[in-house]
Amino acid sequence: MNRFWSSVVHKLTPYVPGEQPKQTDLVKLNTNENPYPPSPKALLAMSAEAAETLRLYPDPNADRLKQTLADYYRVTPQQVFVGNGSDEVLAHTFMGLLKQDLPLLFPDISYSFYPVYCGLYGIDYQTIPLNETFEIEPADYGIPNGAIIFPNPNAPTGRLLPLSSIESILKQNTDSVVVVDEAYIDFGGESAIALVDQYPNLLVIQTLSKSRSLAGLRVGFAIGHAELIEALERVKNSFNSYPLDRFAISGAVAAFEDQAYFAEQCQRVMSTRERLAEAMSKMGFLVLPSAANFLFVSHPDWDAATLAAQLREQAIIVRHFKQARIDQFLRITIGTDEQTQRLLDALASILKR
Ligand SMILES: *Cc1c(COP(=O)(O)O)cnc(C)c1O
Repeated sequence: MNRFWSSVVHKLTPYVPGEQPKQTDLVKLNTNENPYPPSPKALLAMSAEAAETLRLYPDPNADRLKQTLADYYRVTPQQVFVGNGSDEVLAHTFMGLLKQDLPLLFPDISYSFYPVYCGLYGIDYQTIPLNETFEIEPADYGIPNGAIIFPNPNAPTGRLLPLSSIESILKQNTDSVVVVDEAYIDFGGESAIALVDQYPNLLVIQTLSKSRSLAGLRVGFAIGHAELIEALERVKNSFNSYPLDRFAISGAVAAFEDQAYFAEQCQRVMSTRERLAEAMSKMGFLVLPSAANFLFVSHPDWDAATLAAQLREQAIIVRHFKQARIDQFLRITIGTDEQTQRLLDALASILKR
């Protein structure tokens, strides 16, 4: 509390990101970063950019990136919005599309940044409980609402909703914007971008932070009807003209042009995920089916926070959420095969005690 703060700041409850430790010898499985480096072509494009043009402002509209994304997803550039990480795209979406008279709906267990944006922008919201197996029930979203948002696959559960269920939510809500936050869609899901031409109320948000190994670059984007995109442009151009710097634009373009590298890294993460899921099930863990680059797990004989603390003692960090319904779960990012082996060895030694 400080007398110089605005009343808005007094009331904020900011998001707390997963730890980014200074210690570099840790096996870091707590924030869903990709264990593999970004495309070498993206790195080359960025160093060329550094040598040539940093003296000049970047393109405020990032047209080259919008065109690349439009070509990749077979939409028009007018259907594409880009921002400084999908967190910024989400922020503009909350302000520009999700702040309505009726409450915004999202699952009780989902991305914990959503209620934070609601607090920042004064958006009324109502959470809809996931079912007992931690799945979104499309029928539950048929109640009066101002708008709807959910991650798919959901975070931190990893559970995937098929496109048919997303269509069912869209059909029940033709007067509301429905936002699908697809941060993890490239690890085995089917993108709702396929539906944007059919549903003018659908906005799909993605990021280069997870599947394209560029969390440090900060690039996210949204795809939807041109009029939804225009709302985001209006907010963006009232806030920051240059959210993407020159490195971000050139690196993101090159990352999307290197399809072969992308497909190979996603495949590696998915096969490690399946092996880890099987090994942890054998150790007695309940492992939720995951279509993301993490597993959400619980052990019947072990308190989750205790387990996280014991892993930490062995220099492995995972994510624990002190939240009702999931406080006995851990979210574990899929690492390299070597990191995965270290995790399994550590778990074996802990569970033996
Ligand atoms: C990681 C994540 C984001 C944020 O991604 P950035 O592009 O790095 O800001 C958004 N939504 C969900 C569900 C995420 O897990």
